[in-house]
Amino acid sequence: MKPIKKLRNKIFAIINPGKKVYCLYCKKTYRKFLHEGVKSPIFKKYKVAGGGYKLNVQCPNCYSVDRSRLLYLFFQTRTEVYKKPTKILHISPNKEIANVLTGPTITQIVGTIEPEQYMEYNPVRLDVQQMDFKDNEFDVVICCHVIEHVDDDDKAMREIYRVLKPGGFAVLQVPLAINLNKTIEDKTLKTDKERKIAHGQVDHVRLYGLDYFDKLKAAGFRVVRDNPYTNKWLPEAELQRHRLDPIEDVIVANKD
Ligand SMILES: [Zn+2]
Repeated sequence: MKPIKKLRNKIFAIINPGKKVYCLYCKKTYRKFLHEGVKSPIFKKYKVAGGGYKLNVQCPNCYSVDRSRLLYLFFQTRTEVYKKPTKILHISPNKEIANVLTGPTITQIVGTIEPEQYMEYNPVRLDVQQMDFKDNEFDVVICCHVIEHVDDDDKAMREIYRVLKPGGFAVLQVPLAINLNKTIEDKTLKTDKERKIAHGQVDHVRLYGLDYFDKLKAAGFRVVRDNPYTNKWLPEAELQRHRLDPIEDVIVANKD
């Protein structure tokens, strides 16, 4: 981050003291958070959860955003990873989440196609479309905001299913267009500009619609969409302090 932006964020933090919003990563509170994300007309058109530009979402101290606060709260309140021995494969990790998936019960293996970017986690080099792990190896797989970048997403989903233990689950967040039934995927697009217009981001090979869940089912998963508000993870006022987006569910793909 550029020094000028850092300074701007420091000033933002100073002029917005308060208790209205809370960052569970750094435990700081403010009157409001920073805006975050890139404006994308197609994300706006199809109402994309987990992507695009938003006001009041980014902590000015540690830079956590709503997406990563959602996942931390999910693991704290909806799973037993902090209570029971859990072997986690975290693919191209969200560093905020990776840093809090620690403790006596957790074994976290970081896997990525770009190990250079994650050296602090002692990563394993892998391609999610074909992984060098045995079947039934992990209790949990986290693969968030990854498969919209992957050429053969069906293969990636089947691989994640394969390496999960029966009874295990994967967290598979993607930018999800909730007003779009069928995924937009155009492999003939050649330029960054074309992909940005059609898929919302230059390096996305598709924009998922609601048939994302059918794809996961076809790979073998039982899918649960866990929404913090409708499933009352915490009292509503608490959830609002975390500034979680009401339209963003945690997408839990279970291997029964
Ligand atoms: Zn923070």
